[in-house]
Amino acid sequence: MLLLISVTLLLVGNIQADSAGAWNYIRTDADNGPESWNSNVAFPECAGASNSPIAIQEDDSTEVAAVAWELTGWDTAHTWTVDDKHRTFEYGLEGDKKITTEGGGLVNKYNLLQFHYHWGGDNTKGSEHTLNGKEYPMEVHFVHWNSEYATAGEAIASEDADALAVLGFFFEIQAEDNDELAPYITQMEAARNHENYTTEGVNVDNLSIPVKYAMTGNYYRYMGGLTTPGCNQIVRWTVFDTTIKISAAQMSKIRTQSQTYLDQYGEDFYRDPQPIGSRIVAKYDVNYLNSASLNVACLSLAFLSVIIKYL
Ligand SMILES: [Zn+2]
Repeated sequence: MLLLISVTLLLVGNIQADSAGAWNYIRTDADNGPESWNSNVAFPECAGASNSPIAIQEDDSTEVAAVAWELTGWDTAHTWTVDDKHRTFEYGLEGDKKITTEGGGLVNKYNLLQFHYHWGGDNTKGSEHTLNGKEYPMEVHFVHWNSEYATAGEAIASEDADALAVLGFFFEIQAEDNDELAPYITQMEAARNHENYTTEGVNVDNLSIPVKYAMTGNYYRYMGGLTTPGCNQIVRWTVFDTTIKISAAQMSKIRTQSQTYLDQYGEDFYRDPQPIGSRIVAKYDVNYLNSASLNVACLSLAFLSVIIKYL
């Protein structure tokens, strides 16, 4: 009993010691949980008008034509540091400007800095963005910095609205394992047991297969911020509607960690959608050109028929 009290006091002590500027995903934690980020004086930007994620509604978006993506280095072997942060797995790319992304309606070229995951305590939740009201069990974010800046640090310090570009992809449950994800799940399990686990030149080739496939489809674009404190409103967001497939067994492997960390960080590692306000959400539609061309063709025919009528 005494031990239990001591442990409880220790935990309470830790929480209190961390409360200034600390944050977690525990919904019931009024001091540090996500409901409090917006009112936490340590994170003023979390109460801003351009926060993320958002609830994307196709019907409320402005439709434009999809623009092809230009990717370099996505298929090449690179060294990554896989960091188990307990509230995410973060894959940090060692070295600058090795993987770049441009096109897709982005104004600038962007350099990949890292990618990380958000997931929930079960398969009914976990994505940060929602699409037409649907939540997915996991969302991966590829965080890029604007190549107009010499370093990622400079880009972030600039506070420019498009200092970063993040590409977000939803995961969707399928019955069988997705073999393309198997190496990453093995790495994440290994990272659970090693600090700063570094892969030896393992590339993102497997993951880039479903990612690049999704990038041939439709995507949504809006101006927002980081989804974790300080919620810096410096992100040009892209969210794809083509999902990456994953099995429930694979999700379970990613989700499993010690109760100590679950108690400390929560189990739903995502922020809920924030107000869109006056922001415009654009839908980049791969079929837009076809329907637009069809409209032009119809108009031309109508025009021609009018001319013929008066000849
Ligand atoms: Zn994220």
